[in-house]
Amino acid sequence: MTHPIPWHELEPGDHRICCPACGTKPRKKDMGVTILSHDHGIAHCFKCGLIVSKRDERELSDTERKAYKRRMDALRKQHDAEQRERQAQAAAEAGLRWLASAPVLDHPYLTAKGVKAHGLRVLDGVLLVPVRDSNGVLHSLQTIDRSGDKRFLFGGRVKGCYHSIGRPSGSS
Ligand SMILES: [Zn+2]
Repeated sequence: MTHPIPWHELEPGDHRICCPACGTKPRKKDMGVTILSHDHGIAHCFKCGLIVSKRDERELSDTERKAYKRRMDALRKQHDAEQRERQAQAAAEAGLRWLASAPVLDHPYLTAKGVKAHGLRVLDGVLLVPVRDSNGVLHSLQTIDRSGDKRFLFGGRVKGCYHSIGRPSGSS
């Protein structure tokens, strides 16, 4: 991890922070954190799927432990459901953009990198790199603008998927 989750700086409630596992820039707040109390919380990254929980270090009674587990299970379910919802939205958005796009002939980014377009498309000058799972299902898109700024669709599934550009011509 690049930085610890600042559990104790966050008030009870829901927050968005930069993921300690996959977050490279502070402005990329892919991790949702729910603080139940200053000793209990759960963090879940919508991008890489990392789930971290924080619990009180002191001994809990059986009752407390059960209550805690119930709350954590409920939160996990909520986070998972929210993640699935975001992934579904991103997949739908990816499909629409992919349909509206055209095969790319040349693009400043590809020229700069000296690679050939391979199964990529372009929409409004933005290069679209498909993010697919091993069955070839489109889950998300990586977009690359003319200046080379790369982004993934918000909330789109990336884990277990592949995306690549500039594979050598001749391979598939
Ligand atoms: Zn992450």
